[in-house]
Amino acid sequence: MTEAPHKDPFTTSNAGIPVESDEHSLTVGRDGPILLHDHYAIEKMAQFNRERVPERVVHAKGSGAYGTFEVTNDVSQFTKADLFQPGKRTEMLARFSTVAGEQGSPDTWRDPRGFALKFYTEQGNYDLVGNNTPVFFVRDTIKFQDFIRSQKRRPDSGLRDHDMQWDFWSLSPESAHQVTWLMGDRGLPKTYRHMNGYSSHTYMWINGGGEKFWVKYHIKTDQGVEFLTQDEADELAGRDADVHRRDLFDSIASGDAPSWTMHVQVMPFDDAPDYRFNPFDLTKVWPHGDYPLIEVGRMRLDRNPDDFFVHIEQAAFEPSNMVPGIGPSPDKMLLGRIFSYPDTHRYRIGPNYAQLPPNRPHVPVRSYAKDGPMRFEPNRVGAVYAPNSYGGPAADPAMAGEPAGWEAAGEMVREAYSLHRDDDDFGQAGTMVRQVLDDAARDRLVSNIVGHLSDGVSAPVLERALQYWRNVDKDLGDRVAAGVNGA
Ligand code: NDP
Repeated sequence: MTEAPHKDPFTTSNAGIPVESDEHSLTVGRDGPILLHDHYAIEKMAQFNRERVPERVVHAKGSGAYGTFEVTNDVSQFTKADLFQPGKRTEMLARFSTVAGEQGSPDTWRDPRGFALKFYTEQGNYDLVGNNTPVFFVRDTIKFQDFIRSQKRRPDSGLRDHDMQWDFWSLSPESAHQVTWLMGDRGLPKTYRHMNGYSSHTYMWINGGGEKFWVKYHIKTDQGVEFLTQDEADELAGRDADVHRRDLFDSIASGDAPSWTMHVQVMPFDDAPDYRFNPFDLTKVWPHGDYPLIEVGRMRLDRNPDDFFVHIEQAAFEPSNMVPGIGPSPDKMLLGRIFSYPDTHRYRIGPNYAQLPPNRPHVPVRSYAKDGPMRFEPNRVGAVYAPNSYGGPAADPAMAGEPAGWEAAGEMVREAYSLHRDDDDFGQAGTMVRQVLDDAARDRLVSNIVGHLSDGVSAPVLERALQYWRNVDKDLGDRVAAGVNGA
């Protein structure tokens, strides 16, 4: 504990009334029963019983800090979004997290990491809710719940289970790229400071002339990418379950503010139909050679929260928060998240969550929201229904700008994305194994997969998993099979 910065004069109840004692409840005689009208003792107990809000179903264990984003390059030809205009500085909040683990779980379990950013722009909050990986396990939002259940705990024993994980993965070949990434070095970042962030999704950018582009964000760590080996991570999980939270907080507290440089890949709007990969499929990257990175700016995190619960636990990021100049894409995972994130916030921290300190925009809010639990912003006469004759706000299409959308037509269907020339589930994973990883990284990949598959995976699932790796890369699959069979 650090020394208390100041001494408060005296304790009060939540109503501000001076209390009689911090230590003794009110009783009849020294040994008598506690009196029901000891309101302060009851208030303390009742408050304590209500200290928790439901933890997030995914990304429950996280850490975060405030900072600033500064534009370093002119990308105004691609977007008119206020926060990306030349010279602009915007206050922001970042939250990093593991995905499958619960609140108290170790920071060093193998898992993708959440990389959620909130920019308090002059056009309202812009949330870029990414991960430390450019791809994902599934490409359709209807499979997300199944995927997460396979990674969480069994209904009978309450234990996590590699058999469930490999069963789902091997029955879902679109997961191969992300699982290859997860089992490699990037699946265990050394700290939150030593990992990149990616939008993963494709978004739309719209410039001042109404011209549209497709973009992917790459937010590269200025600390350099560093990783833990499986043995290091296992040892840390036992010794300091909060090692990444501690690292981020201590680095910022000691004045060593971490920073990241944001880049985008920009695809001209009309390239999408004929691009060799479906550009909206979240299991694929756009190779850098096709669409090179363009620098945008730098974010620096230099302010720790003064209260973790208020600022980090109650932080509510939502891909639905897009400002003029930025829009969605046909990515089915993104479209699902646009519904799902605000929905889960309403459940977890209540329908007025946007009024909480980390979520409040830094610009005036003039919505027609009204009442509900824990509302503390008063409504104004004239601002409770629209249209009205009493001075309430009226939507201004000129402020909102060009609608972010694309042309779509056809029968209603439940079908996979259209396949583009080079689309298949294993190709980009194989490219990573053969062209990106060096021999040592490939050896660690084999060892990590073998270790994972050797822990409670049943025979039929194991057979399918070995074929899955042979589909990624024949040599890799043969090495994994040899390792699993003890060769
Ligand atoms: P490049 O050679 O241009 O890029 C390869 C990228 O791989 C690097 O820039 C780096 O991304 C990333 N990388 C390096 N080591 C690892 C690792 N151990 N695990 C995961 N990623 C790593 O090739 P392409 O753009 O043509 O992509 C080839 C393959 O690289 C893809 O199939 C994909 O698997 C992987 N990749 C591609 C990315 C992209 O957006 N194009 C991003 C990340 C991975 P970074 O610079 O972001 O650290």
